[in-house]
Amino acid sequence: MPSTEQCEIRAMWQGGPFRRWSPSKTTQTTIGYARGGFVGSYVCSGCWKPSDGVYHAKEDQKWLCGPCRKRVRTRSRAEGGSL
Ligand SMILES: [Zn+2]
Repeated sequence: MPSTEQCEIRAMWQGGPFRRWSPSKTTQTTIGYARGGFVGSYVCSGCWKPSDGVYHAKEDQKWLCGPCRKRVRTRSRAEGGSL
């Protein structure tokens, strides 16, 4: 498994999406973050994989990538969810 250097996974704010974060710039975290450190890809809180974009799934209060979001929606439909 390739090294992820020093980066960790952080919520951008309380209840917010997760992103890779590190105190100093790495190949995984190249974007300077206003509140300090450097950030990289968003991370899905369903599968914990980096994703270009995550969506807020109201059902679960999670930030999910496309495939996970689809799975949640399919699941809630199968269970006769709120809709
Ligand atoms: Zn996912």
